[in-house]
Amino acid sequence: MPDGSLGGSTLGDYGDLPVFGSPGNRAFPALVLNADFRPLSYFPLSIWSWQDAVKAVFLDRVSVLNEYETEVHSTSLTMRLPSVIALKEYIPAARRPAFTRFNVFLRDRFACQYCGHERPAPDLTFDHVIPRSRGGRTTWENVVAACSPCNLRKGSKMPREAGMLPRHVPRQPTSWELQENGRAFPPNHLHESWRDYLYWDSELES
Ligand SMILES: [Zn+2]
Repeated sequence: MPDGSLGGSTLGDYGDLPVFGSPGNRAFPALVLNADFRPLSYFPLSIWSWQDAVKAVFLDRVSVLNEYETEVHSTSLTMRLPSVIALKEYIPAARRPAFTRFNVFLRDRFACQYCGHERPAPDLTFDHVIPRSRGGRTTWENVVAACSPCNLRKGSKMPREAGMLPRHVPRQPTSWELQENGRAFPPNHLHESWRDYLYWDSELES
């Protein structure tokens, strides 16, 4: 046992599943598609560890659509690691997305709602349109993404006092809207076997 990372913690819950040795230091993530062959989610892109992907294969929950060259071995089996898998059962998107920091940024497309500039997530803050000190609540309808300079400039003033109105009236997005926004932000690392599935799902431009 080279490094003890045999995937046992994941696979061990299922006593009758084979336990495979580690493929080494690389991660070998698998792109996870829904049963309609579209990614389960775009942002963050739905990716499972090789351990979870292999487990799902043996539980017959997924079909393997593409594989890495790399193989893993158990005492009696050898298999190539899946690089793209599709769920056999369709999972409908949740109707109401969670009210999280990330989803607020995604709804606002990572752009400050006052000056309109796009920012990387760490440079964005939250602004209460009606300040908390004036009774503003922390809700989809009252929280927007804002860059630090705009947030500072607005401070605890009401929108009209500050002369700063959000570019879009904030409201609760649908899961579909968040997914659509997420498609505009592909992740940094894409395995080549994933590209087809992401490419064929992109909108045709007229
Ligand atoms: Zn700004």
